[in-house]
Order: sequence, then C-alpha cells, then structure tokens
Amino acid sequence: MQDNTTFRDLGIPFSLFDAPVRLASSYTGKERCDLCEKQDAHSFRLGIGDDIIAPCVACGEPVAFDADEPRPSHCSSCDTEASFPVSKSGDINVCYECLREGRAAFTQDTEFGMVRYEDAVRGLTHGVPGLSVSGYETILNEDGWRQVNVPSNILLELVRTPSFVTWQGERWLFCCNDLMTYVGEWQQADFSRQAKDGDGQALFAQLCSGEGWTDWSWDSLRTDFPGVIYAFRCRTCETHRVYWDCD
Ligand SMILES: [Zn+2]
Ligand SMILES: [Zn+2]
Ligand SMILES: [Zn+2]
Repeated sequence: MQDNTTFRDLGIPFSLFDAPVRLASSYTGKERCDLCEKQDAHSFRLGIGDDIIAPCVACGEPVAFDADEPRPSHCSSCDTEASFPVSKSGDINVCYECLREGRAAFTQDTEFGMVRYEDAVRGLTHGVPGLSVSGYETILNEDGWRQVNVPSNILLELVRTPSFVTWQGERWLFCCNDLMTYVGEWQQADFSRQAKDGDGQALFAQLCSGEGWTDWSWDSLRTDFPGVIYAFRCRTCETHRVYWDCD
C-alpha cells in the first residue's frame, strides 16, 4: 500500500502541488531550517539552480544567491555587495514558512521554458527554441528562444513550490493563462476516477493523444507499462492535462 499523504494532510499546503508527498523531489521531512534555524520544521532541500533570497543591507531589495555556491552576490537595485546569508556549506534545508515567505526559490521547468527566481520576478519564462504558443504574449530573444509573459505572482508561486519526481525532468503545464496544479502519476484507475462519466478509456483517448504522444494504448497502462503519466488539473476550468515520460 503506497502512502498517499499530501502536503495538505501535513498542514503545509501548496496550491500547485496536490499530489502525494512521496512524489515531491526535495521534501526532507522534519529538519532544522538553515535560514530561520527553527528545529523540527517541515523542510525542503535546495539543490543546483535553486536560490536563497535575502534583503539587501543597503536598500532592502531582495537579492538572490545560488544555493549551491556560497559566495557573495550583488544587489540588482543599488549594486551593493551582499554576503552569502547562510553560514554553512553543503545541502541547505529551508522550512515551509521560509519557502512560502520567499526566502528561497526552486528552479522549475515548464512547457514554456525554465523559470528561475529572476525569471519569476520579471514575469517572463526563460523560453524554448522554436516554441509555438497561442493565447500568450511572447518575446523572441536574441538567441531565437521564444519567451512567454506570465504574471509574476503566478511564476513566484511556482518557484515557492517543490518540484516533483520524474525520470527526465519536470515540465509544469499551463491552462487558462495560469499554471496547473500537479496532481500525481496516473494509472488506469485514476483516469476512470477522474472521468466525469466514469469512462476512463475515453478520457485517456482524449488526454493522451496528438503530436508527441507515444503509442501506448489503454491496455498497456495495465500491464508492463513502460513509462509514467504525470497529471495536472487547471485551477480555473478544472480540466486535466498530462504528459508522459520513460527511462
Ligand atoms: Zn525557516
Ligand atoms: Zn540594494
Ligand atoms: Zn483551464
């Protein structure tokens, strides 16, 4: 029996992560927070590409530091040098409260490109070469990558959400001009449970089709399934979208 405890069950909800806690890649359980030094706090481990955010001592604007490289940074507003805010080398744990208050940020990948803290602040994804999207304002950068305008508050919510476990990398999906909520890995029973008329196979045919989909059939989900289907729910229209992955 798999443990399906969610962050909501633990009292530390994330509006973009409504899947079992075991599918979060950075959750460490209760640890000491290296930012506020609270003990026994629900914590997350920062890794390569993640940021620690601390106010500039001169002007108070937030300054981002590479979590995996303890070295000074510069304030982008007043150019004052800021020293690394944690006196520790190695893995840095950050508690739920510090993460949600914006003292740390995960780097996330989306279908519109990577989103790091600085991208979230600008309200612009890092972009994807040759990306074609409709319904969103985009910018073509000098490297030929198409970047997508997404309101800063939506992207900041994403970087304050843990990533999910994947084989080849997470890819958050969008719907209704918003990021979708990750709801977990789907098997046949999940399609059947989520289908409005109970017809899971019809929902599978609807969601798992189109360009880039594999030749997995409904029956292959039951036996020797060679991959994983990651599922998302729209925060506005409540429809689902999925993508697949294999090793
Ligand atoms: Zn903390
Ligand atoms: Zn400053
Ligand atoms: Zn939607």
